[in-house]
Amino acid sequence: MTCTIVWLRDDLRVADNPALAAAIEHGEPVVVVYILDEVSPGIRPLGGATKWWLHHSLVALSDKVRRLGGELILKQGASADIIRELLRETNASALYWNRRYGKPERDLDASIKEYAKASGVDAHSFQANVLFEPWTVRTGNDTPYTVFTPFWKSCVNRPTPPRLPIPAPTEFIPPATQPASDELDSWNLLPTSPNWALAFDHRWNVGENGAHQALERFFDSRITRYAKGRDFPSEYSTSELSPHLRWGEISPFQIWHATDEFRRKMGNTPEITTNATKFLSELGWREFSYNLLYHWPELATVNFDARFDHFPWGPADPDILDAWQQGRTGIPLVDAGMRELWQTGYMHNRVRMVAASFLIKNLLIDWRIGEAWFWDTLVDADPASNAASWQWVAGSGADAAPYFRVFNPKLQAEKFDPKGEYLHRYLGDYEHPMLSGYPEPIIDLLETRNRALEAFKTLGDIP
Ligand code: FAD
Repeated sequence: MTCTIVWLRDDLRVADNPALAAAIEHGEPVVVVYILDEVSPGIRPLGGATKWWLHHSLVALSDKVRRLGGELILKQGASADIIRELLRETNASALYWNRRYGKPERDLDASIKEYAKASGVDAHSFQANVLFEPWTVRTGNDTPYTVFTPFWKSCVNRPTPPRLPIPAPTEFIPPATQPASDELDSWNLLPTSPNWALAFDHRWNVGENGAHQALERFFDSRITRYAKGRDFPSEYSTSELSPHLRWGEISPFQIWHATDEFRRKMGNTPEITTNATKFLSELGWREFSYNLLYHWPELATVNFDARFDHFPWGPADPDILDAWQQGRTGIPLVDAGMRELWQTGYMHNRVRMVAASFLIKNLLIDWRIGEAWFWDTLVDADPASNAASWQWVAGSGADAAPYFRVFNPKLQAEKFDPKGEYLHRYLGDYEHPMLSGYPEPIIDLLETRNRALEAFKTLGDIP
């Protein structure tokens, strides 16, 4: 008896999962496997917060797969060895997965596909996690886009819109004997001493159902204020879908078409159209980030703009870095953001920009150090969006913020948190942190801003 193996990775869902749908369609018993691979060459180990998310997401996915009649098989180790062993053990005739876009992952997948095909196995990969495959979006000169606006325009103006989502399966045939599976708990993905993720449970509803509930909540109560409200960190007007998207608990195809349907249902009023278009364009930034990661695989470690290779980053003073990481800089908006991150594994986008600018420009600390901290602490830590966003703030990225844009955290707080509600939420021990009693800043904002601008002049031909 043969079977089909579905190898899930960044696509922890059963609905709109092309690899799973194709496996069921194939008609043989289906084996569903997830591999925790922290050993294959070039694979970046997961950060602590994403491990927490992964644990809960696998619990939710196991339940979904069981309800369909199967079992989620968990394996830990080098993916190539494990897949090879599984193909042999199950006598599989087919191996399906959904694509990923980092270079080490692509190389690994290509070598596994080659091995499988050479062994007579029908190995096939599918588009599932981006709306537009990065190699299909090209400028008139047949080069990848490096500027967001024309990139997104060329995506949304295609003659055919992104495909419709594939409905969730109702059941599938399991093999007579399932391969052995690890116990999830043995992977120790959850923090113990200390359990810094205590408050995460209250904030997040991990898993495919939670992802769809977040989308429903967004349509029910947030989207009508999205375009204006998304910059105000005290408001809950964004979707908070990012960690669900990171793990593929929901697909961008589902979000795209649900947004379209919502618009139609609401009569396509100008207000709804503005908000929906803005929301989809933010999803477009995710697509743009994946486009960059695909074409510039070292996005998380190498300056996109090589002139920044000579930038005089200061030494990262451990005390100063600690103060930033722990939200003790004496700059209220930065501290509130870094505490939100620590307490919830998330930080509002506007505050991410401010906290990152403060690290890079006011403290003159290399953006890669900040990227690594976010990688470890964000539940949505994403190989494409995190790297692209840090480079965007640094000024070294594609279509980046100009180097002279040094966010002033004080003005940002006055403008985007005028009543100090966000500050109060995370620095609650201070009556109104902008006004009185808050610890002194560890640096002078104006002095360090000028220092940054001087340092940027050393880049030479930047105007
Ligand atoms: P919404 O406003 O509801 O947007 C919907 C979706 O669009 C998001 O879930 C996300 O998938 C995507 N999106 C929105 N903004 C961006 C953006 N600027 N770049 C790429 N995709 C975007 N986002 C991540 O998903 N993972 C990261 O690791 C990450 N690191 C960041 C680091 C820095 C320094 C900065 C400035 C931004 C970073 N972002 C990252 C982008 C952005 O902050 C988050 O995507 C957003 O805050 C998530 O909240 P939301 O889901 O409510 O977003």
